Amino acid sequence: ELLEGLHKFQLLGDRGRAKEEEEVTNVAGPSQKAGHWSKGLLTSMEDPEYIVHSTDSLVIIRDKYPKAKHHFLILPRKSISKLKNIDRGDISLLKEMDSEARKLTLRYQKSEFNIGYHAVPSMAQVHVHVISRDFISPCLKHKKHWNSFNTDYFIESGLVIEKIEVDGEYVEPSPEVSKQLLNTPLKCNQCEYVPTNFPTLKQHLLTHQ
Ligand code: AMP
Ligand code: ZN
Repeated sequence: ELLEGLHKFQLLGDRGRAKEEEEVTNVAGPSQKAGHWSKGLLTSMEDPEYIVHSTDSLVIIRDKYPKAKHHFLILPRKSISKLKNIDRGDISLLKEMDSEARKLTLRYQKSEFNIGYHAVPSMAQVHVHVISRDFISPCLKHKKHWNSFNTDYFIESGLVIEKIEVDGEYVEPSPEVSKQLLNTPLKCNQCEYVPTNFPTLKQHLLTHQ
């Protein structure tokens, strides 16, 4: 489990690696107890080092632990902790985020992108991921990282908007369903290849460059 990164905890020594732990926790489980790492996006939204573009209503930042060559997050300025707190009144905001995401991808004509939300986000403040489909990055460290972007755990932005338009709300999947999705057997996102383990998948992804 430790080798595949499936275990929730890691043994970390120095301070540099403690930072990594902050991020490793993200997909492992939504522990929102203290106001610590889960509020990190709010800090990065104010940090010129992370900001890529902003408008009156939203901010685009670089993901601190990019899981692909290009990985950004788009967040509303208005404080909205989670998707499940959004109702039809915020649809226009979600559409604006979606449209900014599409504009952003035009800067990277050579890459294809996925634009969407994690079914159960671990970080506070609603954010849409804009991520290139290569998934080549040292920060992509384990199966759960992969599955969080390459199964139904990743919900396409248009689908989230449609769900809220139709149902009036977004409902998170149960912990059991989330766990199942994050444990889905690995499969390449660009061909039919079925890797035997995560390191093999990482190697294989390089062949699609
Ligand atoms: P999720 O909440 O699962 O949708 O994902 C949160 C995303 O935020 C992950 O892709 C992390 O790599 C990223 N992240 C975590 N901390 C920060 C931070 N302080 N600044 C920018 N991105 C972050
Ligand atoms: Zn492939």
